[in-house]
Amino acid sequence: MILLARRHPGPLGSETNQPKYPSHTYYSKPPPQPQPQHQLHRRSSPIERLPNQVLQLICSDLDYQSLIFLSMVNRHFHSTVNPQIAPTADKFQFIMRAAKDFPQHRAIEKKRHHRPGNSECYMCFRVRAPQHFDVLQAVAAYIDPRGRIVSGRRPGSQDQRVALRRFCIGCGVRSGLHAPFDCLTTKTGQNLWVCRCRKVWQKPNCLRCPDCESSCPLRPKAKW
Ligand SMILES: [Zn+2]
Ligand SMILES: [Zn+2]
Repeated sequence: MILLARRHPGPLGSETNQPKYPSHTYYSKPPPQPQPQHQLHRRSSPIERLPNQVLQLICSDLDYQSLIFLSMVNRHFHSTVNPQIAPTADKFQFIMRAAKDFPQHRAIEKKRHHRPGNSECYMCFRVRAPQHFDVLQAVAAYIDPRGRIVSGRRPGSQDQRVALRRFCIGCGVRSGLHAPFDCLTTKTGQNLWVCRCRKVWQKPNCLRCPDCESSCPLRPKAKW
């Protein structure tokens, strides 16, 4: 559940108002915790002492799942191993399998407790909690001849229609698929809006962005 302070709300996903759910839910293990002081000066393992170029050479041969697991071993690997270097086809396959087969991503259907399952984002290749997805996400977009997403005008004959796979709200905002003044509804029923400076706010906790001073639109923007 997204919890934002009513008096000083911050944009969703900002450092100061991290939602109370793990943001990297594709991992089967929790992110590495800060180590106790007495363990900070432990001797590093031989693989940690490898020159960075050698480590990157090894990583270039690993699949996405192995890279994720290696990046979760400890803080050293968390900062040096980037799972996103895996081939796109491999990332694609892994998140599809993880969303379907990993029990922690399944929906919960109990008498008093109902929670939609986690979903995969085909832009950041993560399996994320349902509050990160817009239920009415567009299934297609138009790209202009310069490769930009057509927004705020009717598409013309020069624009090309492209089908979209599922993407999370964060990726939608970063890519421009969720534009300023779009209103979104998450899979868990929260109503959000995007301000002019492209931060995502929850209604009715924040109806005016303190940074760009734009206000939540009263009615949803026209879709072309
Ligand atoms: Zn994403
Ligand atoms: Zn703003």
